[in-house]
Amino acid sequence: MYIKGFRCFKCGRTFPFPPDQEPQPKLCPRCAGMLLIDYDYDSIRQYLKKEDLLRRAPTIWRFSELLPIRDASNMVTRGEGGTPVLPLKRLGAELGLDYLYLKDESVLPFSTFRSRAAAVCVSRALESGVRTLAVHANLTEAYAWACYAAYAGLNLVLLSYRGSMLPQFRAGILATGARLYLHDGDMVEAEKLMARSAAAHGWYHVLSTHDPMAMEGWKTLAFEVAESFKWEIPATIVCPVDRDGMFRGLYRGLREMQALGWIPPALPRLVAVQSEDWHPVVTGWKEKKKEIVSPPTPAYEYARESGKREPTREEEALSFDSQSAAFVLDAIYKSLGCAVAVTEREMEAAKARLAEREGVIASRSSAATLAAVVRLRSEGWIEKTGHVLLLGPEHGLREFPSRLAPDGERDPLLVDLGSACLPA
Ligand SMILES: [Zn+2]
Repeated sequence: MYIKGFRCFKCGRTFPFPPDQEPQPKLCPRCAGMLLIDYDYDSIRQYLKKEDLLRRAPTIWRFSELLPIRDASNMVTRGEGGTPVLPLKRLGAELGLDYLYLKDESVLPFSTFRSRAAAVCVSRALESGVRTLAVHANLTEAYAWACYAAYAGLNLVLLSYRGSMLPQFRAGILATGARLYLHDGDMVEAEKLMARSAAAHGWYHVLSTHDPMAMEGWKTLAFEVAESFKWEIPATIVCPVDRDGMFRGLYRGLREMQALGWIPPALPRLVAVQSEDWHPVVTGWKEKKKEIVSPPTPAYEYARESGKREPTREEEALSFDSQSAAFVLDAIYKSLGCAVAVTEREMEAAKARLAEREGVIASRSSAATLAAVVRLRSEGWIEKTGHVLLLGPEHGLREFPSRLAPDGERDPLLVDLGSACLPA
């Protein structure tokens, strides 16, 4: 393993990587800052050539020198990684773009980008000798955790937001033997409950927003992008920003490849996309801020609406917080990128276009990236000949209504098998 230790994103202090059997730090012990793993990039550069990667199996573990697992027998895989980059020719032509692509993460196990993080965290728990994982996660992510934990032979305690749970996911998660609990709203409070429970029972708690191990899974996306484009990264990469770590993982992976000399020093322009409903990063970027103190989070909004107090600094550190926002803003400034807030209507239109023109059933956040490109193209920010890559974190199928027809109505698609033939 090439790990030198942890480095705090906020105060810059470094800390040793603990032996396997000791608890892993989650936040900086001095300032509650986000922790990043520091690798010995000089040694990795000498040992590992990017060409070597082509001979390895297409899972995230092909980048094992840059991942925090010592023993290969602890590397749990369900085949995550190696997702395709699809040229979007019809949409590109419509938008006047010669090179428009989508990296389609919906084909990952459990149809979500978050499988990358689950694979690394479950492997790390296994290597640490911890028997029980504690995770606050919703729907597809929760389902992914349940299957990964069962596959690794670990116990899992899951806490999910009840409002987003679908019956078939609930049944599937319970079928794996995971202990599932549901809550009714406040994500910060939910994360706190998991932190307290993990501390009391000795469970391995995965921070849902910036766990140092999850970040290592997220970043593998960037390595794959570079590989897919033969190490010539597209000029513009468009990525949604919410509580998951896709954007941050992308940035970290790009920086690591620069440290290894795998890609040129100039970063591609990174475009952060959020919805008009919740866009702290876009506001911060427009106001040229380096960090956002107390960015509103969905939990924040919930707390305000329900008349509860606002989260404390410690609670914020457990949700999408000022540090996560600072990380994203740093990426936008250093890459000469931008941030775009798209409306619900723009997202729905993009979703329909992706399905109809390209056969891609995109989630709202995936579709938001196309909506941002439509806007940036019309404003002339994106030029005709530049390579543009959209990052789509997950499948959109679950966002459709789950009933075939409204109650009491005949299904308009139903046919009589005795009819002469189907309409032309
Ligand atoms: Zn610190």
